[in-house]
Amino acid sequence: MTERTLIIVKPDSMSKRVGGKVLNALESCGLQMVACKMLQLSRPSAEDFYGEHKGKEFYEPLVAFMSSNPCIVTVWEGAGAIKKAREVIGATDPAQAKDDTIRKMYATDNRHNAVHGSDSFKSAEREIAFFFNHEEIFPWQEKIYKK
Ligand code: UDP
Ligand code: MG
Repeated sequence: MTERTLIIVKPDSMSKRVGGKVLNALESCGLQMVACKMLQLSRPSAEDFYGEHKGKEFYEPLVAFMSSNPCIVTVWEGAGAIKKAREVIGATDPAQAKDDTIRKMYATDNRHNAVHGSDSFKSAEREIAFFFNHEEIFPWQEKIYKK
C-alpha cells in the first residue's frame, strides 16, 4: 500500500554535515521525497511533537537537543513507506543498529541519533500534519528523465 511517512534529519546530522547522506539513504531504498523544509523547532514545538514521551527521563534532554539547531523536515512516499523507512533508519540506539542503517552509519548515541521516522500510520498522519499543509506536499508521479 502506498503510504507517507515523516522523516526529520535531526540537528546532529546537520552539525556533522551528513544531512545529504541521510536523505540519500532514503532515496536509495526506493522512497520518493514529496515535501521538504528546513526549520528550527521551538522548545514548545519540540515538546508537543514528542508529547508521547513526556515524563520519561530522556524527555527534557531530547526536547533541548531537538530545538538546539535547525533540522530538515521531510515527507516520503512509497509502498510500505513507514516500515521501509524505519528499516533503513535502524534501531534507536546506534550500538544496537544493524550495519548499513542510517543510525549505524551516522548517529552518535541513542539521543543524537541522526534521524526521526514515523512509527505507525497514525503517527505518520499526525506528524505530517504537524509540519505541512496540503499544498506543501507534492504527490509522487512517475516521471522518467532520460539523457
Ligand atoms: N531517546 C533518548 N534516550 C533514550 C531513548 C530515546 O534520548 O533512552 C531519544 C532519541 O532521539 C529517540 C527519541 O528520543 O530517537 C524518541 O524515542 P523513541 O523511543 O520513540 O525512538 P525512535 O522511534 O526515534 O527510534
Ligand atoms: Mg518513536
